[in-house]
Amino acid sequence: MGKILAIANQKGGVGKTTTSVNLGACLAYIGKKVLLVDIDPQGNATSGVGIEKADVNQCIYDVLVDDVDANAVILPTSVDKLFIIPATIQLAGAEIELVPTISREVRLKRALEEVKGDFDYILIDCPPSLGLLTLNSLTASDAVLIPVQCEYYALEGLSQLLNTVRLVQKHLNHELRIEGVLLTMLDARTNLGIQVIEEVKKYFQDKVYKTIIPRNVRLSEAPSHGEPIIIYDPRSRGAEVYLDLAKEVLSHG
Ligand code: ADP
Ligand code: MG
Repeated sequence: MGKILAIANQKGGVGKTTTSVNLGACLAYIGKKVLLVDIDPQGNATSGVGIEKADVNQCIYDVLVDDVDANAVILPTSVDKLFIIPATIQLAGAEIELVPTISREVRLKRALEEVKGDFDYILIDCPPSLGLLTLNSLTASDAVLIPVQCEYYALEGLSQLLNTVRLVQKHLNHELRIEGVLLTMLDARTNLGIQVIEEVKKYFQDKVYKTIIPRNVRLSEAPSHGEPIIIYDPRSRGAEVYLDLAKEVLSHG
């Protein structure tokens, strides 16, 4: 049975999509069969693995709103063993359209039950909000991976996210765990980064991944080429650290 991880933080620009795409690609590179689920209407994970959104016929929207079988919307990517359920801007409507539907928070969970057995890992790239799409993701997941950007106010907003996790644990998914907190976009030239690392470690203790993702220009270039870093520039620092992260995630079993 595949392990389902939600990559979540309601703050935008903290590295959720970069982590979903590159952790997914690195796990696949190591030999695991991985499904990426893009549940952000911006569809950045979809384009990040080289899929032209204009060419997508059916996406996660159809699965969530119209009960289309998840198997029918899975696409291969440029990376061997890495597959994706894409998202298009159509998904923006789902947040509202799902409100009056029955079991609106468990729709993704039910859909993924159909495919869970076919993959070693399923990574869900969440949108920057704590709305129904993120609730569906947390309800469907075994654990949540929280990217935190190494900047001032890094911890700001995290109590809201942790509250949401607790509510989901209580009412929708008793099994949900915090897989880990990932420090991202560290600028090693500043003292600020070191301070933030200490602050986040004080708060989350052993939940913080040993792997810390530095700022790396190649990581920010790769999406415009539709390639995960392991394909775009396998010798870059970015590829190295996401490979380290993949090994660390694997070591958690
Ligand atoms: P989110 O999905 O949380 O909104 P993204 O993963 O899209 O965040 O990252 C926000 C921006 O920062 C993107 O332009 C991305 O390319 C860039 N970025 C993310 N991680 C890094 C990094 N380690 N080094 C350099 N740029 C990064
Ligand atoms: Mg994103």
